[in-house]
Amino acid sequence: MTVEDVSAGPLIGVLALQGAVAEHAAALQASGAAVRIVRRPAELDGLDGLVVPGGESTAMARIAAPVKMFEAVREHREAGLAVFGTCAGLILLAESVADAQALEGFERIRGLDVVVRRNAYGSQLNSFTTELPVQGIGEPDRPLEAVFIRAPVIEEIRSADVEVIAEAQGHPVAVRQGRLLAASFHPELTSDYRLHQYFVGLATS
Ligand code: GLN
Repeated sequence: MTVEDVSAGPLIGVLALQGAVAEHAAALQASGAAVRIVRRPAELDGLDGLVVPGGESTAMARIAAPVKMFEAVREHREAGLAVFGTCAGLILLAESVADAQALEGFERIRGLDVVVRRNAYGSQLNSFTTELPVQGIGEPDRPLEAVFIRAPVIEEIRSADVEVIAEAQGHPVAVRQGRLLAASFHPELTSDYRLHQYFVGLATS
């Protein structure tokens, strides 16, 4: 995949340990960003934002460990890097994971003051798509098509700084906290890129 284009707008990384990397890169490029595929801590330098894709958080945590990738992302996040976590990426951003056994002993990025529970919408067979109204992404009358695949449930919000921008089935499914954005679903799997555009705007603000 291509990618860095110095003439373009903000530079957004896509963490490429595992998961839906190419789809996020395409969505970000369509949203006016230059994209860098990130596999090593040094590749975080100079980014305006970073997407942590969906996939499998336990696999990503194991792949990240030898190069201390999540420690590095956390340091950049603390220094102001905007981060957008989707599905597994939300799990990795959450301060607290209710069923953390499979992640025990592994670093996460953390920083988002929520409690999540992995796979709490059911198995792969329970995957679903829903028409989701999302606040702040433009065209309020046009819901976003949201694809949920073994998605985490946000069980609890632990800070008044966390703004819920979308809810489904009685749970928050998209939240923002300062320069962090997270979604339970997969916004990269449709061609409606308003949430990516929102993130590109957040990363440049
Ligand atoms: N269930 C997966 C996990 O725990 C997330 C699924 C996804 O990203 N589609 O990481």
